[in-house]
Amino acid sequence: MQRLCVFCGSNAGHDPAYREAAEALGRLLAARGIGLVYGGGNIGLMGAVADACLAAGGAATGVIPEALMGKEVDGRAVDHRALTRMEVVDSMHTRKARMAELADGFVALPGGFGTFEEFCEILTWGQLGFHAKPMGLLNVNGFYDPLLAMFDRAVSDGFLRPENRAMALADTDIGRLLDAMAAYRAEPVSKWLKDERQL
Ligand code: AMP
Repeated sequence: MQRLCVFCGSNAGHDPAYREAAEALGRLLAARGIGLVYGGGNIGLMGAVADACLAAGGAATGVIPEALMGKEVDGRAVDHRALTRMEVVDSMHTRKARMAELADGFVALPGGFGTFEEFCEILTWGQLGFHAKPMGLLNVNGFYDPLLAMFDRAVSDGFLRPENRAMALADTDIGRLLDAMAAYRAEPVSKWLKDERQL
């Protein structure tokens, strides 16, 4: 894997464990020679993963929509000013497509709507066969247990194939998660279940 896309909160969360996990991921990417691709933010877990990656000698590429450039939160610029490379794009949609193009895999750290949306969208593209790249949740503090339970519910209620559910890798340990992602091979499987009216 040459570049990993990280989705994560633009807030840091209450428990310091979240920031520590983001920093550990940034350092691990630098140590493994894997470039970071992310939303280009300077705040929350986004800033933490990028800062730790850069401080450890890694490379970080941000992809940010024009509308977020130059914005400030609590006197701090929203966009990171010291990245290896920053790509400014016209919209959130272009940004997600560009991040997906640049990266060989995707990890979501804890976050809010933006993070959930980005991870679920990349899963959606994966189950439609638009890409075959690995996708993983870093389950710090069991943060993603409810989402994983929701995915299981979607399988048991007939909305999601088990093979597609299995595309969402998850681990509490970032080293193990990256190893599982490196070993991942996408199975080409139809997204659609048999319509019960035809059974
Ligand atoms: P959230 O989880 O709602 O905080 O949203 C975080 C995700 O949405 C990140 O992975 C980013 O790609 C995007 N995002 C949200 N806010 C920002 C921001 N201020 N600057 C850059 N990207 C952001």
